[in-house]
Amino acid sequence: MELWYTEEHTDEVRFSIKVERQLFSGQSEFQTIDFFESKEFGRFFTLDGLMMVNEKDEFIYHDMITHVALATNPNIKKVLVIGAGDGGTVRELTRYKHIEQIDMVEIDEMVVRLCQEHLPITASKLEDERVNLYFEDGVKFVEGKEGEYDLIIVDSTDPIGPGEGLFTVDFYNNCYKALSEEGILVNQHESPYYENYAREMKRSHQKIKKIFPISRVYQAHIPTYPSGHWLFGFASKKYDPIKDVQVDQWNNFGITTRYYNTDLHVGCFFLPNYVKEMLESD
Ligand code: SAM
Repeated sequence: MELWYTEEHTDEVRFSIKVERQLFSGQSEFQTIDFFESKEFGRFFTLDGLMMVNEKDEFIYHDMITHVALATNPNIKKVLVIGAGDGGTVRELTRYKHIEQIDMVEIDEMVVRLCQEHLPITASKLEDERVNLYFEDGVKFVEGKEGEYDLIIVDSTDPIGPGEGLFTVDFYNNCYKALSEEGILVNQHESPYYENYAREMKRSHQKIKKIFPISRVYQAHIPTYPSGHWLFGFASKKYDPIKDVQVDQWNNFGITTRYYNTDLHVGCFFLPNYVKEMLESD
């Protein structure tokens, strides 16, 4: 009998992957967690029936959520990562030898422990000595912090359930305060294509734009996320990601990537007209 994983992208659209076997299925304090193995995407895991990470295309998401900020300000030393329980974002950050501190705040310890067991491809660097793991709500963690971080990466689930607070004005305000004068905030920004996702993307962008002097949106193509067209938010107190990109300095780091490069860094900020219009409209 064939086994298929099926995810609802909208009420009218479903996305399916043929799976070889289910590795785990259970419920944490916060969400339903499932791990699968498939021929096309390798191992993957879902939270509340939504794809989080798979072995085949995770490099796209993790390259883009990390390297754009590091090429804009190659002197980033202290990083706060919120969510990101699979460890992929931390894995990319640990490739920068000059980064001194990576605080990762994941609300659900069970996600991290299961990824360490079933997804070593992303969870492999969580034991790096610069990494401090906190199992707390990221919304509370940033409250009261002042000027502590050069970069905050919000690698969260969608704005429902535990992830909801990570898309609010209060949270973005607290991130602004928690960042140094050179600070950059990067967050996963949902898809522009389907209305149910685009609505959230637009709302997030409008909130961030009111708080940070520089606020941009960039895109990547991620086959397993709804519509395959995914956005990220880039906000900063000082740096413009296009004008300030440090091409030579970043290339001198000698970090090999399969998706990100410094040409694409500039290109990814040039958005299709329908996305620009959506972001600019009220
Ligand atoms: N790449 C993924 C995506 O965009 O679909 C996100 C991956 S990562 C697994 C998301 C993590 O955010 C989850 O493990 C979830 O537990 C965590 N999370 C959700 N809300 C959170 C909160 N308020 N504080 C900290 N972590 C949170």
